[in-house]
Amino acid sequence: MDFLLLSTLYLSAFIVITYVLWFGDNSFHRRGYVGKLRKTIIRGSYWCFHHCLPSLLRRQVEKLWQYAAYTRNPLFQCLYAILVMAGFSTFQLDVLHYAALYEAPALPLYQKLPLYILCVNAVLFCTLSMGDPGVITKGNVDKHFKLYEFDGRLYRQDEQCRTCQFEKPARSKHCAFCNHCVYRFDHHCLWVNCCIGGLNHRLFLGFLVSLCCLCGYISFATCQVALQIVEANKLWSAHYVDRYGRPQPMDLRTLCQYLFMQHPRMIFLLISLSLLTILLVGFTLYHLYLTVNNVTTNELYKRPASQQQQQKQKQQDKNTYIKGRGKQDKTKQKKQQVEEDSKRKMKFAVKCKRGRWNPYHRGYFHNVFEVLWPLVSKR
Ligand SMILES: [Zn+2]
Ligand SMILES: [Zn+2]
Repeated sequence: MDFLLLSTLYLSAFIVITYVLWFGDNSFHRRGYVGKLRKTIIRGSYWCFHHCLPSLLRRQVEKLWQYAAYTRNPLFQCLYAILVMAGFSTFQLDVLHYAALYEAPALPLYQKLPLYILCVNAVLFCTLSMGDPGVITKGNVDKHFKLYEFDGRLYRQDEQCRTCQFEKPARSKHCAFCNHCVYRFDHHCLWVNCCIGGLNHRLFLGFLVSLCCLCGYISFATCQVALQIVEANKLWSAHYVDRYGRPQPMDLRTLCQYLFMQHPRMIFLLISLSLLTILLVGFTLYHLYLTVNNVTTNELYKRPASQQQQQKQKQQDKNTYIKGRGKQDKTKQKKQQVEEDSKRKMKFAVKCKRGRWNPYHRGYFHNVFEVLWPLVSKR
């Protein structure tokens, strides 16, 4: 099997498996072929792990996995720093070396721009790692109740957080890694070792955008330098000798193989960062979608289950409204207050039912504004 075909097969397998593992569990794919394939891969890996590894090694791997994936630890932060430094060093030492050797006209830009983007990315990484995602404590829990209504589906009144020992405000969730409740919880990010919540979602978006720019620009510059090497050495008009000793005109397959053999680190950097850029752009677009629609990963993940309960909840909400009206009989002021509250809640509940699967949607502009300027910081 030739080099280009083998590389394409490896890359395709990598992309397909990454997609299946990443997106196979979302509501769109869960019951389809992608979801089934994901389950098969996970079950197969689990079976291999339990039947092929010696028990002593298996226990050690399980301990390490428990520590790495289920506790708050700096492993992934260190791994991120190592990967970024390795990629950036390869770019500085290999790609810029060839850019200088072949006198690339954009050399000053190749030297400065990635460094600036890296600095921005490093600042955002540190700020995210050490910052407050919107932790809810007994001292500030009251103000969080004023931020969002309970939708009666994902978030219900009187639901307690048993660990923090207070009633959970709407849109909050207890993070098992960090052991605290977070306002407008999105997810726990292993790479920054911190929750992504209402207060730092804007920083997370900036971090993702800066990472996309860094990987994208380094891929672009590496591609430009590789093309310059091809052009300067007139590789397209060169000939190679085939296995029978006959000279053959250069083709794409042989050119790729030649470049990989001559500049393995540079070509590996180009391929891996190009793939990573595609994945990162996809992930960033997904977070922009969340921002524009005022929804969190946590809510998106729980949505199918809540939709099943919607029908049941309709009747319950109706009863609650009737009871709320029945209580308006003490003082005139209290009557008005209860009526206003009921109307507001009913309006919100109706919004939940009228095809709006997300009742927190306040219009695209306001949704974006809410992430850029979190509600909790205004109070
Ligand atoms: Zn909690
Ligand atoms: Zn967390």
